[in-house]
Amino acid sequence: MKIPELNDGALLPLAESFYSIQGEGYNTGKAAFFIRVGGCDVGCSWCDAKESWNPGLYPPTPIETIVEEAIRYKAKSIVITGGEPLTYPLDKLCLLLKSNNMQIFLETSGSHPLSGVFDWICLSPKRKKPPLDNIYRYASELKVIIEKSEDFEWAEENRNKVGSNTLLYLQPEWSRRTLILPEIIDYVKNNPVWNISLQTHKYINIP
Ligand code: SF4
Repeated sequence: MKIPELNDGALLPLAESFYSIQGEGYNTGKAAFFIRVGGCDVGCSWCDAKESWNPGLYPPTPIETIVEEAIRYKAKSIVITGGEPLTYPLDKLCLLLKSNNMQIFLETSGSHPLSGVFDWICLSPKRKKPPLDNIYRYASELKVIIEKSEDFEWAEENRNKVGSNTLLYLQPEWSRRTLILPEIIDYVKNNPVWNISLQTHKYINIP
């Protein structure tokens, strides 16, 4: 993956941005402006944002342009997602969003160093490129994607690394949801520290 020259995060390869409703995890149901940053070197086989992997496909966009659009909407919540947004230093983007009184939620695999300031960090660990050790303590929620039975073990491995206040979610991999959901339901009934997260935006057909 060739990272474009981005002036230390003053520019970001913007794959898309849109105003919608957060569909997953703790903030499900909240209106938010989504900033999807292009570029990811993790390579999950079931990724539903594969078109965002190559950062070279997206124009390096000044953060001022991104924030100008973000603050036009009524909701004051921002979801920064990808791709893997922590591929880039996010301090400048977060600073500018914060100076406009926005709440910032991050969606990350945790596989790159943490930068920026956030009101909520959703850590979604991926086997292909696991989180860096020092990011676990900052996770507001841990969201583990369950594709097959072995993933429950992976979920527990990650649970052992987060703080005691981190909220815990298991989310079915979308293409296998019909097969795997009954197992997740049983698992959560037997291990009630976990909650189920569903990709509700896909059920209601919104981005
Ligand atoms: S980390 Fe996220 S964006 Fe990257 S390949 Fe995996 S699911 Fe896709």
